[in-house]
Amino acid sequence: MANLKKEGKEIGLAVIIVGDNPASRVYVNNKKKACEYIGINSYEYALKEDTTENELIDLIKTLNNDKKINGILVQLPLPKHINEEAVINTIDVKKDVDAFHPVNVGKIMIGNYDFLPCTPAGVMELIAESGIEIQGKDCVVVGRSNIVGKPQAMLLMQQNGTVTICHSKTKNLAEYTKKADILVVAVGKPNAITGDMVKDGAVVIDVGINRIAEKTLVGDVNFEECEKKASAITPVPGGVGPMTIAMLMKNTVKAALIQ
Ligand code: NDP
Repeated sequence: MANLKKEGKEIGLAVIIVGDNPASRVYVNNKKKACEYIGINSYEYALKEDTTENELIDLIKTLNNDKKINGILVQLPLPKHINEEAVINTIDVKKDVDAFHPVNVGKIMIGNYDFLPCTPAGVMELIAESGIEIQGKDCVVVGRSNIVGKPQAMLLMQQNGTVTICHSKTKNLAEYTKKADILVVAVGKPNAITGDMVKDGAVVIDVGINRIAEKTLVGDVNFEECEKKASAITPVPGGVGPMTIAMLMKNTVKAALIQ
């Protein structure tokens, strides 16, 4: 993408981080770097751990009315004393570049949306760019969170995949994963998927990010085992993570165009 600033376009993304969760700090820094790279102005609001819900909501209301801000991102998770739902519901739907607001979630459900949530959108882009057909394929999504699993399943279904969603209460997970032509895993547990759980020739997409040592990140999929069977597989790090950030940039540019 051309550098927007060089083209005289000013686009602003507000990134709010509350507290000092080290993983959140890394994600926020990566998002800021991506903004710099493509020429989006990023405005960081680093709030203390003991910030009240009302203080955070007041900040979002101010940003909703700030013309230089086109997108607002609240880095999750928030400290336990803050209600995430109340915070997300405050973000102007036109500035909701994470697509977590219920209005945007509803639009995704009916297939008529402005923004897609960044991680599932990144997965869809990876599949498309790899020339992998979804139509008619058996797709299995492991995980049913609001930010990854559920919207992922919806997007695969909208592309005419036959989708099964698995979760922590699924009995005999391997029975489902072994049938998957396209397997998307968003669980948050290392080795949740081992080689014997994957069909020969499957496409395996690992959304998980797990820190197993200070500087060691792994996904949810046992890469070494599954790589031997998969026709395509994403690594961690360096797979879905960078795609998520690319989709955030895309949503921010789109937000500016909509506004
Ligand atoms: P959540 O914790 O919100 O959801 C995890 C899901 O996995 C739940 O639906 C849970 O089921 C299910 N689950 C847990 N254990 C099992 C199990 N043993 N078998 C089957 N399903 C199980 O996590 P997120 O969706 O937010 O994130 C998932 C992973 O993806 C995390 O590692 C996170 O760090 C990573 N992530 C990566 C991003 C990226 O950019 N690459 C972006 C966002 C997240 P139940 O609903 O029954 O509890």
